[in-house]
Amino acid sequence: MKLYSDYHIHSKYSKNGHCKSELEKIVITAVDKGLREIAVSDHGIRHFLYGTSDKNIIKARKEIDILKDKYPEIDIKLGIEANLISYDGDTDITQVVVDNCDIILLGIHFGVIFKGLWGSIRFFKLNFLGRFISPLRKYMAGINTDGLIKAMEKYDIDIITHPGDKVPVDIERLAEAAERTNTALEINNSHRHLNIEEIRTASKYKVDFYIGSDAHVYEAIGEFSDSYDRIEKAGLGSDRIINLEV
Ligand SMILES: [Zn+2]
Ligand SMILES: [Zn+2]
Repeated sequence: MKLYSDYHIHSKYSKNGHCKSELEKIVITAVDKGLREIAVSDHGIRHFLYGTSDKNIIKARKEIDILKDKYPEIDIKLGIEANLISYDGDTDITQVVVDNCDIILLGIHFGVIFKGLWGSIRFFKLNFLGRFISPLRKYMAGINTDGLIKAMEKYDIDIITHPGDKVPVDIERLAEAAERTNTALEINNSHRHLNIEEIRTASKYKVDFYIGSDAHVYEAIGEFSDSYDRIEKAGLGSDRIINLEV
């Protein structure tokens, strides 16, 4: 099995030195590893620790357009790993993102500026307390899932990153909505989600799966052994994963 495409690669356009990778070195590494398609997808702008900015998105777009001419052997895309920022399904997908990005990933991250007081209390406090109180965890899984589903209905999202990581979600309902909205679910190689159980649950629906390396260093680009291990243990057919080939 071979991974031919990796849409989840972070770069120097993340804030605060979260990732230092230069775009050209990312491209060279990807070509060396035999990838035919990549997307540079930094954290969305409402991630106050690591987010990119509208200005950086425009800079990255220009840089990628130059690299596309220089390295025609690989398809280089600009992506974004946008954030859910409200339980009404709002995200930090700005007009600049829509105008410049080829691929939109969406994930849940705690480093975001969440909207509204009640939304923030639920997002930060109740998700945290839910780690210790099982009924609260279940309640928050429903709320988190509602937020993601609303975002999938509002925006044209290609992939939900690491579902079930950071906060609990209801994989059954998420997968049903992913099938309906034609959104892929990521089996993230750097985080443990989707995990084996979640892959099994989601696979009952006609949803596409996508392996993302979530690389923050060059060596991790195109790596997928951890994801593949979970896929095998879950018994998921490799034909369900859109970026794998024999
Ligand atoms: Zn993420
Ligand atoms: Zn990421």
